[in-house]
Amino acid sequence: MKRKVLSMVLATSMVAAALAGCGGGSEEAAAPAAEAPAAEAEAPAAEAEAPAADAEAEAPAADAAAAPTGNKVGVAMPTKDLQRWNQDGSNMQAELEAAGYEVDLQYASNDVATQVSQIENMINGGCSVLVIASIDGESLTTVLEGAKTAGIPVIAYDRLIKNTDAISYYATFDNYKVGQTQGQYIVDALDLDNAEGPFNMEITAGSPDDNNATFFYNGAMDVLQPYIDAGKIVIPSGQVDFATVGTPAWATETAQSRMENILSSNYADGTKLDICLCSNDSTALGVENALAANYTGDYPIVTGQDCDIANVKNMIDGKQSMSVFKDTRTLASQVVKMVGQILKGETVEVNDTETYDNGTGVIPSYLCEPVFADANNYKELLIDSGYYTEADLQ
Ligand code: BGC
Repeated sequence: MKRKVLSMVLATSMVAAALAGCGGGSEEAAAPAAEAPAAEAEAPAAEAEAPAADAEAEAPAADAAAAPTGNKVGVAMPTKDLQRWNQDGSNMQAELEAAGYEVDLQYASNDVATQVSQIENMINGGCSVLVIASIDGESLTTVLEGAKTAGIPVIAYDRLIKNTDAISYYATFDNYKVGQTQGQYIVDALDLDNAEGPFNMEITAGSPDDNNATFFYNGAMDVLQPYIDAGKIVIPSGQVDFATVGTPAWATETAQSRMENILSSNYADGTKLDICLCSNDSTALGVENALAANYTGDYPIVTGQDCDIANVKNMIDGKQSMSVFKDTRTLASQVVKMVGQILKGETVEVNDTETYDNGTGVIPSYLCEPVFADANNYKELLIDSGYYTEADLQ
């Protein structure tokens, strides 16, 4: 399977339309079925209305001929420990099954060897497409040689898989924008353009083996660096580099114990902590736990990402300032659509062909839109859209 975008839907209006259909707001979030892949699977003619359809005339027949014809889709997820992956997996399974596919869904307990063997089984078990959210983006090169040899296309789900040309497509959220949203929130909340500061900040980033983690970190730091350079933000611990502030496996406990050390070394004398830049909700939770037990000053800004239930509760309680909502339903819908396009030999819809180089070249990508969330808009975003019920957040 060639990893070539045969013809891409990159006209501005079409990209806008595509983004609007992918997590752009609560209305879309409320009705993921509007893009119901089932209809596409059963009625290819309806595809004429799909944004990608116009471009299909250019698609060489060779690619259609190379498309596998089976009906089984392998879905490899990293772990059940973090809430979002459970939602990703069950959304993918439900949508794929509704579209008439057989699904082999596996979770790997954040263990790379387990994930490798699950993928091997999917390859040997007759899957026609693999959708993989990797644990370590650099550890699947060998196993995916097998997929390539067998002609099985692979979609990297949410996290880029590196150093293998077996990846056909990548579907994710705009990860850099997630970080920018966190950074800009801090700038606005503290009015950094006018305030003199200095404000004290500590940084908790994501897992070094996850390609997304550097995008989140860079997105936020690119917004904040001018204020650090101007002396408006200072970092009392001196821990700034991604390598120093990363949190292996995004583990809450690791983020918590690191923040406990930072607090006892730098803030025990009453120094005020103004900002905790946390890349996601699982790390934010650790930081919030550390603050609860070890910090008595005015509560700092704490950022996050994912709108996990525990963190939305903390937003409501004033223990977390914001999160970034990445509607797993829309990502799943997009990926199911891409699976269908691959299996039918159609042009696969992407909207980014520049950002994600996995070491073998740029992987054609579809980036969904992340959405700012806080205590003021969570009801509209999360409850009105049916993502959570009121009871979930009690
Ligand atoms: C995802 C985040 C998630 C993190 C930890 C990242 O790859 O993009 O949404 O918080 O992994 O699971």
